[in-house]
Amino acid sequence: MISVRDGQNRILAQIDRNTAPEILPLSAALGRVLVENARAPFDVPPTDNSAVDGYAVVAADIPASGLRELTVVADLPAGAVFVGALAAGQAVRIMTGAPIPAGADTVYPQEQVERSGPRVRIGPIERSTNVRRRGEDVMAGTVVIPGGSVLRPQELGLLASLGHTQVLVSQRPRVALLSTGDEVAEPGTPRKPGQIYDANRFTLRGFVEQCGGSVTDFGIVPDQREVLRAQLLEASRIADVVMTSGGVSVGIYDLVKAVLGEIGGIDFWQVAMQPGRPLAVGRIGDAHFFGLPGNPVASSLTFLLFVRPALFKLAGRRRLFPESWQARAMEPMRKKTGRREFKRGVLKHADGGWEVRTTGPQGSGILSSMVTGNCLIVLEEDRGDVAAGDAVTVEPFVCE
Ligand code: AMP
Ligand code: MG
Repeated sequence: MISVRDGQNRILAQIDRNTAPEILPLSAALGRVLVENARAPFDVPPTDNSAVDGYAVVAADIPASGLRELTVVADLPAGAVFVGALAAGQAVRIMTGAPIPAGADTVYPQEQVERSGPRVRIGPIERSTNVRRRGEDVMAGTVVIPGGSVLRPQELGLLASLGHTQVLVSQRPRVALLSTGDEVAEPGTPRKPGQIYDANRFTLRGFVEQCGGSVTDFGIVPDQREVLRAQLLEASRIADVVMTSGGVSVGIYDLVKAVLGEIGGIDFWQVAMQPGRPLAVGRIGDAHFFGLPGNPVASSLTFLLFVRPALFKLAGRRRLFPESWQARAMEPMRKKTGRREFKRGVLKHADGGWEVRTTGPQGSGILSSMVTGNCLIVLEEDRGDVAAGDAVTVEPFVCE
């Protein structure tokens, strides 16, 4: 038996290179991983500019008390720039975001002045009010997005604001995916007695795509040695990662082990965790191999724990694991010491802080527990039964 942490470390140690970089237009880069640090080529904002619609004035004209009248010498629409310098006694009507005219350094919001014809009356105000400084968002040369970051909508917008139109990202890790088992039927086809519809290939495809990978679907492979062998070899030629579900237990039809012994280098692990104990990890040719258990919750969980960080590392991501939090258990939970247990939980915020309850029955075939839940409750190796009110570790399903 190995621990979850040891298993994760061993897998990550096997991944020694990233997928190749590619250049994409910003409009196609959502969810991709930035390869290099992105630096600002200029200050943002590029000039001092107005934070409001109003009137720019020279500081010396600001009255200490009472009112003063200035002449409005220009009405600048958005995008227009005042040519020349503002002199004493003058004001310029200015829009939010417009560059502050030379000579001016304070902006009155329009609702704080009285305008009549070409004249405007102003009262006391603090100097520099409503001026956004050049470079106050980003200074030229600073790293705005570190390499290894995932590009969310806001990162794409920031890159665009710096004038970029394209971006260097790592290629999506390619994952070949197949289900094993004579009892597994393709949804949409008739189901013979004793058969179940394939769930895992759909859950796992979703997880892979959510993690920024691309999937080649090898369908359902029957429990026949030669077919499995041919499919796995083919999969290993076209993918960075080959991933199967089912067939890794010790039944006589559990062929993954036998076949992989012939075509690849494979370790069978008994991981000290529940659910999801038997797991096959190794290589076929140049591809990394993950043989996940057949039970739907176990395959999902082993994906999240072992395959997701591998895909993230392949894609060059900095963050490989989700952040975990502490929450108050709202019910007692049975727990065996010496292994790490994962319950599906519903986490919510209530008066007393973060609270978590389980989704109900926790059998490793109960996929609906993943649907009802929004997090994993992680019960560490050394801990025993949990009493209601105890603090427990929770991890969201998704890892940003
Ligand atoms: P196995 O490890 O192949 O013995 O599978 C363990 C359990 O998971 C069995 O009850 C299988 O029927 C079930 N199972 C295997 N593959 C799938 C699949 N693709 N979708 C849903 N259930 C599966
Ligand atoms: Mg099977």
